[in-house]
Amino acid sequence: MNVIELDQSYVANTYRRFPLEIVSGKGSLVYDENGKEYIDMGTGIAVNTFGLCDPVWSSAVTLQMQKFQHTSNLYYTRPCAELAQLLCERTGMKKVFFGNSGAEANECAIKTARKYAKEKKGEDYYQIITLTGSFHGRTVTTLAATGQEVFHKEFLPLTEGFLYADPTNLSALTSLVESNKVAAILFEPVQGEGGVTALSHEFVAGMAALAKKHDILLIADEVQIGNGRSGKLYGYMNYGITPDIVTTAKGLGGGLPIGACMFGEKCEFTLGFGDHGSTFGGNPLACAGALSILQRLTDKFLEGVGKRSDYIFKKLSGARGVKSVSGMGLMIGVECDRPAAEIVAECREMGVLVLTAKAKVRLLPALNIPMDQLERAIDVLLTACAAKE
Ligand SMILES: *Cc1c(COP(=O)(O)O)cnc(C)c1O
Repeated sequence: MNVIELDQSYVANTYRRFPLEIVSGKGSLVYDENGKEYIDMGTGIAVNTFGLCDPVWSSAVTLQMQKFQHTSNLYYTRPCAELAQLLCERTGMKKVFFGNSGAEANECAIKTARKYAKEKKGEDYYQIITLTGSFHGRTVTTLAATGQEVFHKEFLPLTEGFLYADPTNLSALTSLVESNKVAAILFEPVQGEGGVTALSHEFVAGMAALAKKHDILLIADEVQIGNGRSGKLYGYMNYGITPDIVTTAKGLGGGLPIGACMFGEKCEFTLGFGDHGSTFGGNPLACAGALSILQRLTDKFLEGVGKRSDYIFKKLSGARGVKSVSGMGLMIGVECDRPAAEIVAECREMGVLVLTAKAKVRLLPALNIPMDQLERAIDVLLTACAAKE
């Protein structure tokens, strides 16, 4: 059997895969089973921050691999402690809990918010407000947090205690807060899976003020936009606010599974011994790799993210066949005249891998994609957008 037949016979049918087998990669170039080269504008969904087989990241992971690959959380390990330190120093957060995915980071934030509110306000203050169009994960609880009906309907009943607010209507959010017993507001600064839309500054400022006024924890889900992708280290930093909890995953690991839930001053001691845990959380390989990624996301480096972002926005805005361009930094949504699926297929034919988010084409290139490769990829996308069917 070829790999497609093998996969379709034995791997669960949860993914509609593209007809393409990836066999190797270097930086922002990937190669299929026939040796055809593609420019990677998806990075494994915002994971491969510095592309494939990045030498600095690879050597950090390899060096740790040669020492030891795993122990339990009953012992101290240096990569875990140093990564937590750097995350706190770069964000002003106070403590970090490590898991292995975005969903787990959000689960941790939700547990923390519930315990915080219970201790401060009482047993019945457990509601968590999330935004419509949001995406927070696939576990039963993070599905409940996800403000999109389509993900819910086959899996009811979900975890209770979630309320949904329209991310364009601050007065509706205000009345939701005032008429319920709320523990937290959970939001993505830039909604990813929901269609690559950045929240407005007015909405985020209003939400932060509300949270402060009512002593509600403000939780930023930075799983996709975090770790430099917005042009700042974390997406919330573009809004001049400070969340009480920041969750992240995807790009932090640079390709190995990691999730982080960072606690600010208000809730750094909320979780205590035995309240939460993870067998793999804080794994030394994942942490050593993540540390090498975070160390390189300097302000100087992030200027390059802004430069690449400006280039993409300028080239695509108003181009033939392009209706709109949305997002922030190197997380970009492109609304085209033609269906996104057709654009994705044509780009693939022409050697460029792009993603979709709802009806849009989604771009999530490596933060260090060489300019000449980026230019070629955008030219291909423009050709696909302008083509008549
Ligand atoms: C991908 C994503 C998640 C879920 O992350 P997993 O690692 O797949 O569990 C949560 N929140 C946002 C914003 C995401 O983009």
